[in-house]
Amino acid sequence: MEHLQCKICGGGAARLGSKTGISKREPFQLWHCPVCHYSFVSNPWTDYQAIYTEAYYRGKGVDPMVDYLFELEEPLRSVRLYEWRGILARVASLIDLKAETRWLDFGCGNGGLVRYCAQNRDMHVFGHEQGWIKEKAASYGIPFLDSAQLDALEGTFDVVTAVEVLEHVTDPLDVLGRIRRLLRPGGLFFFTTGNAKPFRKKLLSWSYFVPEIHISLYEPETIGRALTLAGFRPQFVGFGPGHADIIKFKVLKNLGIRRISPIQRLVPWGPLSRLVDLKYGVTAHPIAWANGP
Ligand SMILES: [Zn+2]
Repeated sequence: MEHLQCKICGGGAARLGSKTGISKREPFQLWHCPVCHYSFVSNPWTDYQAIYTEAYYRGKGVDPMVDYLFELEEPLRSVRLYEWRGILARVASLIDLKAETRWLDFGCGNGGLVRYCAQNRDMHVFGHEQGWIKEKAASYGIPFLDSAQLDALEGTFDVVTAVEVLEHVTDPLDVLGRIRRLLRPGGLFFFTTGNAKPFRKKLLSWSYFVPEIHISLYEPETIGRALTLAGFRPQFVGFGPGHADIIKFKVLKNLGIRRISPIQRLVPWGPLSRLVDLKYGVTAHPIAWANGP
């Protein structure tokens, strides 16, 4: 039996099988570590210029569910508003947000969350992104920091968020270590990524496993272990303020609904979001606090 070393715990990962991409018609190999339950693509497509193109951000590329240009142009009409509102409420329930608070959205895409938070709270909010969308978003006045600027700002952020970012990376510990260094000791890291645990026995057919882009899949314990190794104190706090909005967005997105409409107010989102959470474990992933230097 062939083995690859798990990039998180060092255990021996086994090959689960392959899945052919939708846009890149090649087999991508999925591996799974039985120790920490990290799953990863061993032959990822790393031509980022080819993946994260204008077509991708328009929802015409690898992920037809994304709609980043509309969110940028019509933020009050996009269902993404629910996610921004939910994340701000979630973070505000965990850490005191003050005028001097410095918040970085790492892998911010179109910067929609950055703009929403800056407009709704008196604080300093920045984004970091490498994809095509960055230039476009910058033209909307969203403050971006490039990699060199981030290097100079290590240890200065009170909050770092990474919304649907960790599943895109080839080396989770490297990225988490980078995020840890950006935070001040005691700073908060809040992220979202799919929870692979309910799908452990059927990862290859999990719809979230889009092999061209979602190349790292985690269970809550996987992330907890990775966070500890990267210098964080993970905390499993579960469902809290803001989660109903975050889940509302995810449900609508997965139904292919991109625009806010009055009929959405008729849905009992409180109980529905709890049911979705029970089934998919959306809030089972931990939050994390940066340890001291
Ligand atoms: Zn492992």
